[in-house]
Amino acid sequence: MPRTLPPVIFVFPRCYRVMDIRDAHAIQGFVNSREISAREVAELSLARIAEADPGLGAFLACDSRRVLERAEAVDRAVRERPLPLAGVPVAVKDNISTRGICTTCGSRMLESYIPPYNATVVERLEAAGAVVVGKVNCDEFAMGSSTENSAFQVTRNPYDLDRVPGGSSGGSAVAVAAGMAALALGSETGGSVRQPASFCNVVGLKPTYGRISRYGLAAFASSIDCIGPLGNSPRDIALLLGQIAGRDPMDATSAPAPVPDYAAELDRPLGRLRLGVPKEYFGQGLDPEVKAAVEAGIRNAGRLGCDVVEVSLPHTPFAIADYCIIASAEASSNLARYDGVKYGFRVEAPEDLMDMYQHTRTLGFGPEVRRRIMIGTYVLSSGCYDAYYVRAMKVRTLIRRDFERAFGRVDALLGPVSPTAAFRIGEKAEDPLAMYHSDIYTVTAGLAGIPAVSIPCGFTGGGLPIGMQIMTNLFQEGLLLRLAQAYTREFPVVSPPLRV
Ligand code: GLN
Repeated sequence: MPRTLPPVIFVFPRCYRVMDIRDAHAIQGFVNSREISAREVAELSLARIAEADPGLGAFLACDSRRVLERAEAVDRAVRERPLPLAGVPVAVKDNISTRGICTTCGSRMLESYIPPYNATVVERLEAAGAVVVGKVNCDEFAMGSSTENSAFQVTRNPYDLDRVPGGSSGGSAVAVAAGMAALALGSETGGSVRQPASFCNVVGLKPTYGRISRYGLAAFASSIDCIGPLGNSPRDIALLLGQIAGRDPMDATSAPAPVPDYAAELDRPLGRLRLGVPKEYFGQGLDPEVKAAVEAGIRNAGRLGCDVVEVSLPHTPFAIADYCIIASAEASSNLARYDGVKYGFRVEAPEDLMDMYQHTRTLGFGPEVRRRIMIGTYVLSSGCYDAYYVRAMKVRTLIRRDFERAFGRVDALLGPVSPTAAFRIGEKAEDPLAMYHSDIYTVTAGLAGIPAVSIPCGFTGGGLPIGMQIMTNLFQEGLLLRLAQAYTREFPVVSPPLRV
């Protein structure tokens, strides 16, 4: 490999091809035409993981023998027929079930849990020819915004190794940003795909609630949780989404709505769209550099032939409190199953059953998960239920109506993803409220169930990525990705070199 090329771009002298391991669309083309084999792609992905991951800490599991076997199976399959994700290396967040491979959810509680089944998304990925290269780190049970809440390791931002990659899908964002995988799966409740995507200069999509089956996703807040793809371009996200979206009989909450061919529709002309800018997303707390970059991004979007207007989402100031109550309440109920009885960690030599429950849960869960379980148990308790939970559900309706009203006037909304760029490791770890508040622009789409994407839109003076958020109405992922594609094609961001 010539030294002048960055370590994620490889030259194949045999067929005179240059392949960027961050480009899923190109990889499937090469593997389907059999110019480059899935095994060769897998070897490069594994080599890149071996080179970069010791400094980044994204992977919790990577079994190279298994990966190469799987790639060889894809090479045999493409002799028969083309596959949409042929040979594409994909990293999977460790709260998504993989048969025979540890699925820890970043928790001591599931440290040794090996699922006997695949999540539907993993089944669909493999049917489409993708190669799962490993399981990646996350905040424990997806609770957090920095991946610091993992019980196992710290994951570092590839643009500044002293900073967080965002979270909770931090490992997924780092895997695709550093070229260790072409695509990744993350999960979202309040911003866990979009925020790490924005911190790591990649594209991250939170789909409409119900768009992608959650069978095999460890439940956090079931009325909000979604699985979402991360990659290096809207085209790759469209390619992946088209394969994993759609009704699944194993998940009653998956939507029966037909799945468009997102990738084929990506280059359709945009037409004259109306874009809304929520004024509440530009108030106090927004870092001036992030504000300037996103405002420039919005001006650019206007140059795509769109009209830009100001809109209001008046209930935004209540979103964090609302999210905290609803998500914690649902988490306390969902996490009741980790009691040491059926699977996972169990404390040794308990005195009796109560002692076993108590010590298993105290030792098995980390401090953030315990905090949420306690908040959730409190807001659901008989004296508090109406004052907190029922009220929070009413506020959620108001937030949803804000969006309904806005989408009566505009086709899409634009704004920041996070109030700041990536913060330092440890900076907010002791301050849960500061951490919760950093989700202000992302929890709203989660509560409303609408799709939203983060796309790269610039860098700070210090070389940290800044993301821009686009949101559309329910099931409008096609439009969302077309707009994201048009934007990234016309206004590509020149990035500083990776630190690894
Ligand atoms: N940071 C948010 C939280 O801690 C969102 C997490 C998520 O989307 N899974 O709840």
